[in-house]
Amino acid sequence: MALKRALIFLGPPGAGKGTQAKRVAQRYGVLHLSTGDMLRDAVARGTKIGQLAKPIMERGELVPDDIVLAMVEERLSRPDCADGFVFDGFPRTLPQAQRLDEILERRGWGKPLVIDFEVPAEVLIRRLSGRWMCSVGGEIYNVLDHPPKKIGFCDVDGGKLYQRPDDQPAVVKDRLVAYERQTRPLAEYYRKRGVLNVVDASARMEEVDRALAAILSRAEG
Ligand code: ADP
Repeated sequence: MALKRALIFLGPPGAGKGTQAKRVAQRYGVLHLSTGDMLRDAVARGTKIGQLAKPIMERGELVPDDIVLAMVEERLSRPDCADGFVFDGFPRTLPQAQRLDEILERRGWGKPLVIDFEVPAEVLIRRLSGRWMCSVGGEIYNVLDHPPKKIGFCDVDGGKLYQRPDDQPAVVKDRLVAYERQTRPLAEYYRKRGVLNVVDASARMEEVDRALAAILSRAEG
């Protein structure tokens, strides 16, 4: 089973794209590339990028394009990207999307397959405030619709769960505003390129799974 196309998971914070992107990457044996995870890792390690990104992320704003792009390009130059990748949370602005298209073209990947996870704002706010993440493997849980078996601990590796600092209600609102302003236009950009697929991500997890599987099986064909 192979995709032979780069996958882009688009959608507002809390749409569930991170959970799905991880699963899909695992299923196809390709790299899951989350710029949010990469930035959080840089913050935790206190690198130069991390120091710069930390206050921006805490405000719920977007990190400047040149920083994110340099980080992504460096990551894509490593050998484990040879079989493909699932982008999660990237691109998030038009300049990022245009640059990614150039990179994919240059590497012979052609057009990406874009899956846009659409969810109304009120659902997002409820979901984000109930979100918990594993401090070991990054697994994502939600007290409302995907709770861990044992409260506070990861089902997969037993790691302690924590709540992201940017999941506080005031910051969540700013992240949604940033999404509307800077990322929403990407749907139109990819629609024009004929590569956009929209999934209703406010539906139950099983239904989202089914819709996603249908898109992917068409892409495999
Ligand atoms: P979410 O999609 O739930 O907001 P992410 O983990 O994808 O979470 O991103 C967390 C934060 O990291 C964003 O609010 C933003 O500050 C920063 N970030 C992640 N990816 C990008 C990107 N591609 N461009 C700019 N900033 C980014």
